[in-house]
Amino acid sequence: MSYRGRFAPSPTGELHFGSLVAALASWLRARQQRGQWLVRVEDIDPPREVAGSSQSILAALQQLTLTADEPPLFQSQRGDAYAKALQELRADGHAFPCWCSRADLETENTLHRDGRCISSPRGGREPAWRLHVPDLDIAFDDGLQGPQRQNVREAVGDFVLKRADGLWSYQLACAVDDAFQRITEVVRRYDLLDSTPRQILLQRLLGLPTPAYLHLPLALDTEGRKLSKSSDAPPIDAREPGATLARALRFLGQPAPEIPDIQAMLRLAADRFDLPTLHRLTARPADISPD
Ligand SMILES: [Zn+2]
Repeated sequence: MSYRGRFAPSPTGELHFGSLVAALASWLRARQQRGQWLVRVEDIDPPREVAGSSQSILAALQQLTLTADEPPLFQSQRGDAYAKALQELRADGHAFPCWCSRADLETENTLHRDGRCISSPRGGREPAWRLHVPDLDIAFDDGLQGPQRQNVREAVGDFVLKRADGLWSYQLACAVDDAFQRITEVVRRYDLLDSTPRQILLQRLLGLPTPAYLHLPLALDTEGRKLSKSSDAPPIDAREPGATLARALRFLGQPAPEIPDIQAMLRLAADRFDLPTLHRLTARPADISPD
């Protein structure tokens, strides 16, 4: 099976340094493996979406010459596939409707577990749909972070698949789409490591393949804060693609060859992409500043 990687941004702001690092690392891995690289826009949460953000992220990738091998997949157009997956989980008894509010669960000071609802069905109100999470350890070997193990029931309990307001959960959409796009390795930010066991559990219940995983060190700003779109991280300067890419390469511990032709620079960087160096950096992400 040939290598297929992906970059999956959420359109909640412009492309910032942390996202660029994820985009670049996944691109380098795919190119080094002579595989394909895809882009998926995770636009399943309209209330959190920033208008024009999808277009600006895709335009920034283009300016940086991080070119995908297929047209981008938009999760906002994948509702039927998520509905089908939920239907399968319901048919197999893995999903149940839930009218519990956040306040209900806080009163019980507990996670939602074992399919046990606090609130009873409320007529006229749409339920959320949750996964009845089995008492089971999910283990996987992360390409950078090493062996991982989580009991999803203990850690997060019966997680939401579809919200009461009709929005699909990130976990379900991601599991379904990684399979749909035939992704063989997921290279993404460290803060999604914790989501991976939930996604592997869904893949197993839905009979989908599990890709390999590689979670990168976090991109931190000069004061050691995580760079995320929600914390006003500055957007990257795509008008200076060479300098911007060189900065991201250095963050990944890779040599940043000073070549005016950025496509040649990226090709060289992909040929030299060195996972062991990145692995050493993973052990001490806090030491690294993007500047
Ligand atoms: Zn419930």
